[in-house]
Amino acid sequence: MSWKVSSQSVKDTDLLNEESLFFVGNGYIGVRGNFEESYGPSYPTIRGTYLNAFHDIIDIPYGEKLYGFPSTQQKMLNVIDSQTIVVLVGEDQEKFTITEGELLSYERHLHMDKGTSERVVHWKSPRGREVKLRFERVVSFVHRELFATRVIVEPVNFTDSITIVSTIDGDVTNFSDANDPRVAGGEGKRLHTVESSANEDYGYVINEAETSKLKTACLSYHQADQSSNTTVNEKGSCIEYIHHFEGKAGEPLTFSKWNIYVDTLRHGESLVGEATTLRERFRSITFEELQQSQKNYMDTFWRKSDVEIDGDTYLQEGIRFNLFHLLQSVGRDKHSNISAKGLSGEGYEGHYFWDTEIYMFPVFLMTNPELAKQLLIYRYSILDNAKARAREMGHKQGALFPWRTISGDECSSFFPAGTAQYHISADIAYSYIQYVHATEDMHFVKEYGLEVLVETARLWMDMGHFTKDGQFLINNVTGPDEYTCVINNNYYTNAMVKHNLAWVAKLAHRLQDDDQRVYQQLAKKIGLKDEEIQQWEQAAEAVLLPYDEALGINPQDDSFLQKEVWDLESTPKENFPLLLNYHPLTLYRYQVCKQADTVLAHFLLEDDQSLETIRQSYKYYEGITTHDSSLSTCIFSIMAAKLGEMDKAYNYFIETARLDLDNTHGNTKDGLHMANMGGTWMSIVFGFAGLRIKEDGLHLNPKMPSDWNRYAFHIQYRKQPIFVEVQNDKVKLTLQEGEDVPIYVNEEGYTLSVEKAVEVGMSK
Ligand code: BGC
Repeated sequence: MSWKVSSQSVKDTDLLNEESLFFVGNGYIGVRGNFEESYGPSYPTIRGTYLNAFHDIIDIPYGEKLYGFPSTQQKMLNVIDSQTIVVLVGEDQEKFTITEGELLSYERHLHMDKGTSERVVHWKSPRGREVKLRFERVVSFVHRELFATRVIVEPVNFTDSITIVSTIDGDVTNFSDANDPRVAGGEGKRLHTVESSANEDYGYVINEAETSKLKTACLSYHQADQSSNTTVNEKGSCIEYIHHFEGKAGEPLTFSKWNIYVDTLRHGESLVGEATTLRERFRSITFEELQQSQKNYMDTFWRKSDVEIDGDTYLQEGIRFNLFHLLQSVGRDKHSNISAKGLSGEGYEGHYFWDTEIYMFPVFLMTNPELAKQLLIYRYSILDNAKARAREMGHKQGALFPWRTISGDECSSFFPAGTAQYHISADIAYSYIQYVHATEDMHFVKEYGLEVLVETARLWMDMGHFTKDGQFLINNVTGPDEYTCVINNNYYTNAMVKHNLAWVAKLAHRLQDDDQRVYQQLAKKIGLKDEEIQQWEQAAEAVLLPYDEALGINPQDDSFLQKEVWDLESTPKENFPLLLNYHPLTLYRYQVCKQADTVLAHFLLEDDQSLETIRQSYKYYEGITTHDSSLSTCIFSIMAAKLGEMDKAYNYFIETARLDLDNTHGNTKDGLHMANMGGTWMSIVFGFAGLRIKEDGLHLNPKMPSDWNRYAFHIQYRKQPIFVEVQNDKVKLTLQEGEDVPIYVNEEGYTLSVEKAVEVGMSK
């Protein structure tokens, strides 16, 4: 049951959201769940196919452009449309569409176990012809460039011709909405067809982006189990194949369309050469074989990543759905990452944010560390851009990573909630450090890690300063909470900076101890001096972490507690999210939080404060947080679980797990909320099970939500697979293979070995 998500609705607004929910992708290609034949003309739709990181560069219009504001930004493009397959029945060519004739039955599914989507329809045409149709889609995890659709058409009560029209359409635009800051405004047509060609075997279209000059090609070919009479029309940017078949009542016709996407970022300039070579490779594959290879891939994925929840199918569906979409969106090369909406839609223009490091990276780190490593390598690949940006921002040294980007340059135009979020550089550093804890991969530290940590540490040394009484302060930044901007000593930022500084020094020492010669080479390459390491250690000790004695909490920043508290109770429901109804300055004047900020710091760096301070802070911030950002409830769920408030933890978890399935933020049509999807996994593994990855090993502190009977999940730690099962007031940890692993349960140390599982009672 819970291996698929299904829908039977043909309501226009549902179909629009389902374009995101039923998207299929493989980290390179993403295809929205549009209908092959499209809908009726009055239906709203965002028809889209995307290639991760494939973008154009567009101007950012400003009323007043000040020094250092980025003049351009990157934008992920909607690429050549190969989704269209239109079925016409009878000599008079009645076109199948859900908006005409009669829908005798209809359902669609996303198969999370098979990695496919499917639509099954029984339709009666206006002239009484009945036909059964099944559309199946695969974006292959095994063959990166391949998106294939199979259509099975079965005439029920007629024997007459069936026509299938399939197009490759280069005339595409991006979606825009001038009234929503989370969606792009402005002009949508950025791709232009520069070449197209077709023969009876295959056709292709090449499009070029207006400014970036990146090119992409889509080459399509067809297969059918019956012979057809085919004509090909080349209409400029659109190629149309018209296949005529002899339809027979009760005899299904199987037709498949195979689309190969290539682009100049990955495949060099000879796109047609690449695509035809790939076609030679793929053309002997049958659709069944493609489905089987997809299923094998998914089996391996779920073996490593599945989370089981007994007693709640609704939430079981939610967690698998979220994990599946994360897998479909994660970039697998140095050009790409995971955008805020994955490959499911155009919201936030396909940009990569801190969402990756803090919300999605942990899922991969603990289940598929190879994919996690790839995400770190992407950041390494844009380190030069980050250094250049730091210079532009007036820093003499260091690297400032862009708040939002695709190819490495800063894309945020509203700096108070954009560039000012310097914490992204510390977040990236944090993910590198977590990677070391979880994998002990010191080779990676030498190759990439140390350099990133050094450059981010250098940034902090340049932007922070020591006071006369020896405190290290960081001024004029914005923390994660975007309703409080450009302030001094944001607790979150300072705590993350402290961690960055302390750990770069530790790792540098560790490398020195491991191998002086290798260390010297590396130090030479990055110009690292011993004095610098000492300064980092000194600054790490001295970073100010604001604390308020009277309230016993960590204030979000220096001036936060001086502000008036926003009256959330009297704020009309329709005024949420506040960002769409109040000027930013109004919001900045009050104590009101869009999302977890200090509470997030307490989760990521729990050893910095006493449990009492964490508890008081949680209570305080909970009262003033709107959760207008989808990055918030999961963190409150995790921290409520830590503090033993299980009902709260559970309620926040439900909000998190079903956010897109129930469209609770009202904008699922623009794409799925990927950070929240990672947050769902985190709420279970870091929240209910209390997992933390620390220097000395794995720590667990499991608890059980009252509505559940059992939950279980898989993790990888230092290349060893561990199965964690929580049931009947007990947690059972099984090491599935490999060497002994030290583990802490409820702060008690154990050694996990293949021979002997560890079973411990739960703390209350
Ligand atoms: C959140 C940011 C987040 C961005 C992209 C904003 O609404 O406040 O924290 O990075 O969305 O998901």
